[in-house]
Amino acid sequence: MAISRDLTAAEIVALGETHLVKTYKRAPMVLSHGRGVRVWDTDGREYLDFAAGIAVNALGHADAGMAAVLAEQAAKLTHTSNLYYTMPQIALAAKLTAHSFADRVFFTNSGTEANEAAIKFARKYARVTHQAAEKTHVVCFEHAFHGRTMGSLALTPKEAYQAPFRPLMPDVVVLPFNDQAALAQITERVCSVFIEPIQGEGGIHEASPEFLRALRARCDQVGALLVFDEVQCGLGRTGDLWAHTASGVTPDMMTLAKPLAGGLPIGALLTTERVAAALTYGDHGSTFAGGPLITAVANYVFERISAPEFLAHVRRVGGYLKARLAALSSPKIKEVRGRGLMIGVEFTDELAARVVEQGYAHGLLLVSAGTSVLRVIPPLIVTEHECDLFVERLAAILERL
Ligand SMILES: *Cc1c(COP(=O)(O)O)cnc(C)c1O
Repeated sequence: MAISRDLTAAEIVALGETHLVKTYKRAPMVLSHGRGVRVWDTDGREYLDFAAGIAVNALGHADAGMAAVLAEQAAKLTHTSNLYYTMPQIALAAKLTAHSFADRVFFTNSGTEANEAAIKFARKYARVTHQAAEKTHVVCFEHAFHGRTMGSLALTPKEAYQAPFRPLMPDVVVLPFNDQAALAQITERVCSVFIEPIQGEGGIHEASPEFLRALRARCDQVGALLVFDEVQCGLGRTGDLWAHTASGVTPDMMTLAKPLAGGLPIGALLTTERVAAALTYGDHGSTFAGGPLITAVANYVFERISAPEFLAHVRRVGGYLKARLAALSSPKIKEVRGRGLMIGVEFTDELAARVVEQGYAHGLLLVSAGTSVLRVIPPLIVTEHECDLFVERLAAILERL
């Protein structure tokens, strides 16, 4: 049927219920346009976006510079496949390596694909370097989230996500997070260890610097590659370009995605020369990944995010927001934690879903992490004034619950 402009929001929602696979529980309104941290629905209601498309819209909505780069590149060259070089892809790879531990980049279309690439690279590296066919085990941690495809799903140890889809990729070992004693279970059979320096979906839990140092040492001892999943916590979210920098620990590979192209689909696997040397023509690939349209935009976004004054803004506003949240004297709040603009508000009860739902009526787009944590992950351009509005509205919601 033809979708007319005159449909009401309720009619559009009903059409969605009819035509889409029901894998998402969606909010009851239809979003229409945005500007900065604000978004409007088709009925003209305004929302402050403190979810940022799940930590994606780092520059907010309708950023003028991003729109200009997008339009210019769209009029020039959109897609070529990876059979050819294009300038935007190479420029982005050069920027990412210049600003990190890495020597080389493999582009993907999403976070889960970046982790799939890391799984494959580590397996190949183990075969080439250690000539060990049995060095196939992959370690991840409790409450980790690394994605939904069959490899990364095996590294996302949540029963509801995994149970319907077994058998999963074998040879996965799940260890407790921040538990140094458990690292002895990383044996010679392990080829790679995946960890989020700050767990996002798992509830904003930071790996301690001591734990990351011990993990690095254990990986070196058994010849396992250390993979940092910075899909959510990386690219300026913490006020540092990379979440792991503060720990002083360097990984062998790092995966990126969410904010890298400001809302367009992209992922990246960053790796050292040592690991990359194990890969050869035909080992892995993607039709769309790293296309000139997406990477032109990502170059723009990365330049903005990596500027020292931009990161200083994230640290300043993040510190302000965390202090204001910590000062909320609500008996329903158990803890406020996190760094920069990656803040978790843990409730004393399983209130997260209700707070998110009440947010719609109070002009807030919110996202939870599990049943009792509100994940506060606004666009990185958010101002102190917008943080004030958010805190006031959240306080009103909590009072009424
Ligand atoms: C969102 C996320 C992923 C998966 O990214 P997709 O783009 O949704 O595939 C992987 N790791 C972490 C830490 C994430 O937050």
